[in-house]
Amino acid sequence: MQIDDPHSTSVETCLELLDASTGGLSRTEAARRLHAFGPNRLPETRRRGRLLRFLAQFHNLLIYVLLGAAAVTALLQHWVDTGVILAVVLANAVIGHLQEGKAEAAMAAIRNILAPHASVLRDGARMTVDGTDLVPGDIVVLEAGDKVPADLRLIEARGLSAQEAILTGESVPVEKTVPSVAAHAPLGDRRSMLWSGTLVTQGTAKGLVVHTGGATEIGRIGGLVEGVEQLTTPLVAQMDNFARWLSFLILLIAALLLVYGYFIGHHAFGEMLMVVIGVAVAAIPEGLPAVMTITLAIGVQAMARRHAIVRHLPAIEAIGSVSVICTDKTGTLTRNEMLVAVVETPDGIFEIAGEGYAPAGAVTPAGDLSRLARAALLCNDAAITCRDGIWIAEGDPMEGALLAFAGKVIGDHRPDGRRLDAIPFDSRHRFMAVLSEGQGGGLVHVKGAPERVLRMCGGIDLSDWHERAEIMASRGLRVLALAERKESGEEIDPAALEGGLTFLGLVGLIDPPRPEAIAAVAECRAAGIRVKMITGDHAGTAAAIAARIGLENSSRVLTGADLDKLDDAQLALEVAGVDVFARTSPEHKLRLVMALQANGLSVAMTGDGVNDAPALKRADAGIAMGQKGSEAAKEAADLVLANDNFASIVAAVREGRTVYDNLTKVISWTLPTNAGESVVVVLALLAGLALPVTAVQILWINLITAITLGLALAFEPSEPGSMARPPRRRDAPILSGSLVWHVVLVAMLFLAAVFGIFSYAVDRGYPLALAQTMAMNTVVVLEIFHLFFIRNIYSTSLTWAAAQGTKVVWRVIIAITIAQFAVTYVPALQAVLGTRPVPLMDGVLILVVGAVFFAIIEIEKQIRLGLRR
Ligand code: ATP
Repeated sequence: MQIDDPHSTSVETCLELLDASTGGLSRTEAARRLHAFGPNRLPETRRRGRLLRFLAQFHNLLIYVLLGAAAVTALLQHWVDTGVILAVVLANAVIGHLQEGKAEAAMAAIRNILAPHASVLRDGARMTVDGTDLVPGDIVVLEAGDKVPADLRLIEARGLSAQEAILTGESVPVEKTVPSVAAHAPLGDRRSMLWSGTLVTQGTAKGLVVHTGGATEIGRIGGLVEGVEQLTTPLVAQMDNFARWLSFLILLIAALLLVYGYFIGHHAFGEMLMVVIGVAVAAIPEGLPAVMTITLAIGVQAMARRHAIVRHLPAIEAIGSVSVICTDKTGTLTRNEMLVAVVETPDGIFEIAGEGYAPAGAVTPAGDLSRLARAALLCNDAAITCRDGIWIAEGDPMEGALLAFAGKVIGDHRPDGRRLDAIPFDSRHRFMAVLSEGQGGGLVHVKGAPERVLRMCGGIDLSDWHERAEIMASRGLRVLALAERKESGEEIDPAALEGGLTFLGLVGLIDPPRPEAIAAVAECRAAGIRVKMITGDHAGTAAAIAARIGLENSSRVLTGADLDKLDDAQLALEVAGVDVFARTSPEHKLRLVMALQANGLSVAMTGDGVNDAPALKRADAGIAMGQKGSEAAKEAADLVLANDNFASIVAAVREGRTVYDNLTKVISWTLPTNAGESVVVVLALLAGLALPVTAVQILWINLITAITLGLALAFEPSEPGSMARPPRRRDAPILSGSLVWHVVLVAMLFLAAVFGIFSYAVDRGYPLALAQTMAMNTVVVLEIFHLFFIRNIYSTSLTWAAAQGTKVVWRVIIAITIAQFAVTYVPALQAVLGTRPVPLMDGVLILVVGAVFFAIIEIEKQIRLGLRR
């Protein structure tokens, strides 16, 4: 059951060869074939082996420096130092490796959520299945924006074009038609075929699946070259770069120190070298890149839990900084659960009762609406079915509502007559037409936006009906006009529609706002984010819904036509104050994004259609709808909303802000800590004093704290009030003046505390080793207090909630405390690190010094926060 050249074979022969029919396979036959042919999945591209991926963790300049240091210490036979340095390297690699595995798993899960579905005919009915369940012989239905799920021989094509760049490299969409082409035609010219993995850019199609999985063209060229998602963002890349230069600087300073110590300080060279290596290792922020990457991976997962799927990692930063969200209306701000509530015909106004998509409900007052109902039934691509007593709509919910309405009026919600031709709905022309065969000959039914459809009708008072549509819309109803025309031919003549239609009536549908969207809009206001609604719907409907949702300025509406009259400069001026844009086409979205960006705003834009792709790409954060969005929109987007809900966008913004905060916290904790540790040693050397902390001890501190404590910050939840701050400026540098000041302040305090404790111990006549042990423990205690300070950089740390910390923080602190007790009191470890047991009262003193340090930096923060208010 194989066809070699489906493109040059007629549809009939293809169907025959595959033992299929235009009505689709039966479910049992499809299941049998799935077993025989296997799932419609591309063969996995080979991934790097585990070992290789682990080794790749060592490929990093900071790690090379550490390995160099290990080699030098080994040459000098300082085995303890070598061991500790290697342990640091290993711990980094293990954490990096685990995190990468976790991140990959997260991204793979996301890819699964985004796996495409396909609309197929099975047992004669249209249904949605997983793309992987397709088998040769299936009949697939496609429309603009869909991704082709398998290689298809076209059976029907209306205005069809596809973008086949992934196969042919040609980015201009190719027109597709049913007739066979020459057997030797190159791939790009086989117009009777649609290829797996390509995108339908226009029109509708029905196709016969001829090849699936690895047998498809894309499968044969070795699978999709999967875009390798780099786990990085602009900020992380910037920090990577910063860390690299910082390392060079540290190495240079270390070398100078070595020269100074040897020639001027007259220290022994070997001893000097060890100290310098200790300082360099302490100062180099080797854990920083790994911890930042983990922070990102955790953010991706947190967003996924909130139904926002990150497709491109940089978006995680971008979404946290947005200052405007441009959103669709239908389904995003509203529920997209439609119900026909009112109908207005030349005979009068009728109220329609009922709930959901159930085709039962009274019409008051009674009247003959059967022509209107037939138009609603036939000019329709959806289906409604009753499952477990609940009626659900397959396809466009609005069309589902029209079917329910038809059921209420004529007792039938399944189209009967044969469909001869159709003009599919397109958001640019805003109507749809269907030619069906009826008993008394062919009838064209048209439905669409009132302004568009009324224009095609003859014999009515246009301005009167426009006004009636306007009134309906101002109540927040979505309004459609329906019309019909007799047609004797087999095709719809678009020219004959203009002016030649008989008007049937207006239909008003309710689509209630989502309650959680109202709350989310309020949250945006508090967070200094402006929300703008950009919809294809009527201006009146849009304004009414905008008012109910709570948009800042719902009274002023700009329509697509208004936008067309403004040039880019005027638009940039107007755009800031207007929150509702109605009757827009996808092209307007792109202009709006650019106009807002011209105002220096950082824009999130939602979209679902094929034509929304350019705007999504251009926006700072492009967001596609996961449920009703086309594949084309999803591929262009940075983020996909699994539940199409506006509230999920706001949740993603909150997560994005948290991730950015946590990245900042990781940096703000690491840099001052490293600086503090190294300044202590450098100053001791320059002043010719005894070292308060030995080289080995510095390495030890670095090993146990740098990775563990810093890592805890990656798991921090959102700080309270993170959505009560205005958005950060996207161009704000991470190494801000206040961070630099913090580094200096903390380094100074470290210096004072460590030297203080050290001098106190020396003064009391303690042996040098004990004084050094106390100094080392002081450093660790200061680091822990510093961690608690950093957890709340935007608010006070002196609250019960802040003191409670997170599980991760406490686990890390307990682990470090045990480790410190061990090296201080366990004799075997004392021998290795040169430590001595610290008397109880001195231990308490160290904690008091830590508390004082905390009090100083906390008060300093309160002063700074106070000044900003
Ligand atoms: P958004 O999702 O941005 O709020 P929308 O879904 O309201 O936009 P479109 O889908 O572009 O916008 O629809 C615009 C208008 O086209 C609708 O207000 C309606 O009048 C008409 N329309 C929508 N869908 C159909 C359809 N299937 N058949 C006929 N007309 C339609």
